[in-house]
Amino acid sequence: MSESETTAPETDAIERESMEYDVVIVGAGPAGLSAAIRLKQLGGDDISVVVLEKGSEVGAHILSGAVLDPCGLDALIPDWKAKGAPLNTSVTQDRFLVLGEAGQLRLPNFAMPPLLNNHGTYIVSMGNVCRWMAEQAEELGVEIFPGMACSQLVYGEKGQLKGVVAGEFGLNADGTPGDAYEPGMELHGKYVFLAEGVRGSLSKQAIAKYALDSRSDVQKYGLGMKELWEVRPENHKQGEVTHTMGWPLGSNAGGGSFMYHMENNQVSIGFVVHLNYANPHLYPYMEFQRFKHHPEIAKVLEGGKRIAYGARAITEGGWQSLPKLVFPGGALLGCSAGMINVPRIKGNHNAMLSGKAAAEAAWEAIQAGRAQDELTAYEKNVRSGPIAKDLKRVRNVKPLWSKYGLIASLSLGGLDMWFANLTGYTLLGTLHHGKSDADATERADKHAPIDYPKPDGVLSFDRLTNLAFSFTNHEESQPAHLKLTNPEIPISVNLPRYAEPAQRYCPAGVYEVVRDDDGSNPRFQINFQNCVHCKTCDIKDPSQNITWTTPQGGDGPNYPNM
Ligand SMILES: Cc1cc2nc3c(=O)[nH]c(=O)nc-3n(C[C@H](O)[C@H](O)[C@H](O)COP(=O)(O)OP(=O)(O)OC[C@H]3O[C@@H](n4cnc5c(N)ncnc54)[C@H](O)[C@@H]3O)c2cc1C
Ligand code: SF4
Repeated sequence: MSESETTAPETDAIERESMEYDVVIVGAGPAGLSAAIRLKQLGGDDISVVVLEKGSEVGAHILSGAVLDPCGLDALIPDWKAKGAPLNTSVTQDRFLVLGEAGQLRLPNFAMPPLLNNHGTYIVSMGNVCRWMAEQAEELGVEIFPGMACSQLVYGEKGQLKGVVAGEFGLNADGTPGDAYEPGMELHGKYVFLAEGVRGSLSKQAIAKYALDSRSDVQKYGLGMKELWEVRPENHKQGEVTHTMGWPLGSNAGGGSFMYHMENNQVSIGFVVHLNYANPHLYPYMEFQRFKHHPEIAKVLEGGKRIAYGARAITEGGWQSLPKLVFPGGALLGCSAGMINVPRIKGNHNAMLSGKAAAEAAWEAIQAGRAQDELTAYEKNVRSGPIAKDLKRVRNVKPLWSKYGLIASLSLGGLDMWFANLTGYTLLGTLHHGKSDADATERADKHAPIDYPKPDGVLSFDRLTNLAFSFTNHEESQPAHLKLTNPEIPISVNLPRYAEPAQRYCPAGVYEVVRDDDGSNPRFQINFQNCVHCKTCDIKDPSQNITWTTPQGGDGPNYPNM
């Protein structure tokens, strides 16, 4: 029987084998893989490192833009070019557009703060970059196990984080072990790195247990939805990067779009809606679909075809929302803590830098004979090194946007960023975020419903049709991984008060309110099989009644080159 305490005490009695490593890493994104690579660069055969990934393969759950600032990769693998890293498309043109319904205004590049300039960056598929990073890690001797969801934290006697439970398979729908039940294993480490990305399910538990966010602002989020298109060669401009703001969101919500022309006539097109919107009638997915009909966007997509779809939340709190990063036995890496530079919509470089810094701190500690204590050197590095420099100077853009809307954030935020660019300081000190995104939701009767045009099936698609292009799959016999604290709340509270917004904010159509033929007897239905693991429900449910937990490993989306 296991002697450890886990975060699911009801299964503590289950007998599990355990394995010991020097460092256990949860998540094969840019943060986790960078940490693994750096540990092996430093320790070689003297250090054992394991990476656990819930996707069916590395990259299967990676969804990013992405324009990659190579500073993280330069620091980690300086000869990445010679080693064949898939960074093949340099950014050649940068366009910032403010959209109106039928037209657009291009902001002159010279007026944009230089830190928003994409000179020297690359348009990539981060899924493919992660696949390549995993190869580099394995060549160095890192053990990587895809298809292994880490479902519980394991604590030691002094309350320190000692490991994780991974690889539990075969539970029945009611949570009891089925015929092919596999209890999974406990993987113990001298240090455990949580590199789960945005709103990590174990990171959330660690943040609560160790009160890591007691001195930071609330974390803020956006919902990012993305499609990959193959467009006509004459519409393709390899290396062109376009960002837009304004229509169709207008004053209903903050957010904007990106369109990146990649290799092979492919265009990555995405739309981000800030999740602090007040109107619960807002339907982020339909905003994205309608956006593609803007003439400036439609002219690129016309005659092309959508080849993949997916969604993922994005952290937006930045510097003031960064929680404490270390606790006894563990550390939060990358977007598990939230390291995105919001105006640049970039976090991959900081995820890599944080992985590298955490690895260096762990290696130093292990060499000194330490284990399962706090890696304070990592925290110090993040708070005073390149990540701090990147995040601090843009820290007021998001609070300005939330408080005063697009125009003020463009002018005041722009001015503040120009000043920060020139001096390293901001004019406004540190502005704070205020309410959580869940609390920002207002009653439905304070807002008018929004009428969305029906998708035309050419440029825009209904949610379930698009979902098929995320190649999502979940074993249907397992328990639903979306847990309601109180199953009554969706119908008794959320429906009358907020018109149950889960029906609209979920980009995969997981949540439905179904009724009898005469419209009576509303019931809340969870189609968990559709879930693309974006984490929006865990963030935006106004009653904070939904908890996202891991389904069994290998399930979820199977993104190609997203
Ligand atoms: C729409 C969108 C566009 C973006 N555009 C850009 C851009 O252009 N440039 C840029 O630099 N950044 C961009 N970002 C941000 C960037 O993607 C993130 O900053 C980055 O992914 C963070 O890396 P990470 O390693 O911390 O997390 P992730 O990349 O999210 O990786 C986490 C990994 O951990 C796995 N995992 C999570 N929980 C578990 C668990 N319990 N058990 C096992 N495995 C687990 C996940 O499956 C995933 O593979 C964008 C983000 C979005 C959503
Ligand atoms: S159920 Fe939640 S995590 Fe899954 S796709 Fe919908 S909003 Fe995202």
